[in-house]
Amino acid sequence: MSLLALALLATVGVATLVSIDRAATSVRMVEHTFHVIASLHDYNAAMRAAESAARGFRLTTSPTMRAEFHRHEDRIARQLEVLSGLVADNPSQVARLRQVRELTSQRLSFSRRLIEDAELGNATPGTLSAGARAMARIDVLQQDMLDAEQALLAQRRAQSATQARVLVAFIAGGTLLSLLTLALLLRGLQREAQRSRQLERETRDAAGALEHSLAELAQVSEQRGALARYASLLQSCQDLEEAFRVTGKVVAELVPGIGGRCYLLRASQDLAESAIAFGAPVVPSEDVMQPAQCWALRRGRPYLVADIGNGIACEHIQAERAAAHSWSLCVPLSAQGSALGLLHVNGGPDRDPTQAQLLVESIAEQLGLALVNLQLRESLRMQSLRDPLTGLFNRRYLDESLQREVSRCQRRGLPLAVLMIDIDHFKSFNDGNGHAAGDALLAAIAQALQANVRAEDLACRYGGEEFTAVLIEATAEDASLRAEQIRKAIAATTVQHLRHTLGPCTASIGLAMLSPDALTPSALLERADAALYRAKAEGRNRVVDASVVAA
Ligand code: GH3
Ligand code: MG
Ligand code: MG
Repeated sequence: MSLLALALLATVGVATLVSIDRAATSVRMVEHTFHVIASLHDYNAAMRAAESAARGFRLTTSPTMRAEFHRHEDRIARQLEVLSGLVADNPSQVARLRQVRELTSQRLSFSRRLIEDAELGNATPGTLSAGARAMARIDVLQQDMLDAEQALLAQRRAQSATQARVLVAFIAGGTLLSLLTLALLLRGLQREAQRSRQLERETRDAAGALEHSLAELAQVSEQRGALARYASLLQSCQDLEEAFRVTGKVVAELVPGIGGRCYLLRASQDLAESAIAFGAPVVPSEDVMQPAQCWALRRGRPYLVADIGNGIACEHIQAERAAAHSWSLCVPLSAQGSALGLLHVNGGPDRDPTQAQLLVESIAEQLGLALVNLQLRESLRMQSLRDPLTGLFNRRYLDESLQREVSRCQRRGLPLAVLMIDIDHFKSFNDGNGHAAGDALLAAIAQALQANVRAEDLACRYGGEEFTAVLIEATAEDASLRAEQIRKAIAATTVQHLRHTLGPCTASIGLAMLSPDALTPSALLERADAALYRAKAEGRNRVVDASVVAA
């Protein structure tokens, strides 16, 4: 494009220069014709002046006149030289001038003779008329030359006018073409600049996008690393409590600025209890809920409410207390198709819920698997802690748990009761019905005992036909009532064995409360045992409270 423009401009320039040159030549030619005409006039004037000087001398014989004649003679010679130089390029004018030269020399020689004769006082017959004839011919030739020059002048003028028009047309056309080319060039340059600006913008955007992608990549790899660390931490967790604690920390670290809870479903699947709360929630969620209160637990898949104020929030969220444009996400904790609990998080508009969702779902997946493993481990541990005949906790478990519960209740100033239960005259029952019947009755009694304590209480087989019940957070009154209830339940327990109804057997129960006199598990058990001994001594089938002093 720019090459074409340059070529065009150069062509216009050259053409204009050629036109100017031609116009100048035309002007020079016109000037030349004027020169010829002027010289002819000068020559004519000099001839006339020479002729009149010669005549004047003849009349006056004044030497001034003669000198005048000679001066004009020289002038004529000069003019003829000038003219021959001027018309040298025009052969017809050259021919005419040659004749003029000849006639001029004739004419001048007549005049010289006239002067000489006048000096001598002779008459010059015929000289005057011959001179007049030569002059008349000169006049004709001179007129011819003038006419020829006039014709040339007219022709050159016309040529010059045409050249001038061509020049004007060239200059105008050239200027227009140059302007057009310049405009096109400018437009091209403008477009080029626009394109380069666009390219620059695109490059800048691409660089920005690349930087953003790299930052995202770095973030993703960091998150992956954190998730991998979390998975390995979960594997080392000893129990559910620890797993939840780790989860709370990992969620707060990976998705800062959000808060929430981990819920664990009870084995009965009727309640989900908060196992841990973490972060800074923007909306409170209940401690305990029914699975039906959560859309995620109901539908068995993650449930996101992008704007709590405008969406259908779960019932366990106190939606009316939610900040504007806050969001909530519930992800079920499950493994191998069975629901184990729920991971609930919520956050404000400054956190992107869809970004958080991916992470929270990954965490929930890991946690679900860990929960299954931990629950399995727990149930295996439970099996090792249970008595195979009755299904109650064994002595080992009692020792472990009683220590923990005593410490906890002491720390919190809560009451705790221990019942030592011994079946009355069980040896006789065994002897009378056989050991197998004794076993069957023991299992039935264990069931009666379990049925009469709360879920959080501990019902254990202490050994043989002796049982222990740890009534957690039970007051002395509660414990007395509960012991009486258990005594009655055992006294009402019969068993079907070999098509015979056997039993019931009564039981004696010793009751001891956690008190300044009994602050350790062994002291508690000893006091309960002492009360049991008293119950036996006082006639069996009764409850004796260790704190009640014997009558
Ligand atoms: P008391 O009212 O004084 O407690 O009389 P008792 O006969 O129950 O006396 P004791 O506690 O000394 O006797 C325990 C008996 O319980 C001894 C044993 O035959 C019986 N026994 C202990 N363990 C088992 C068991 O696992 N199965 C059966 N069938 N009997 C057991
Ligand atoms: Mg006994
Ligand atoms: Mg006994």
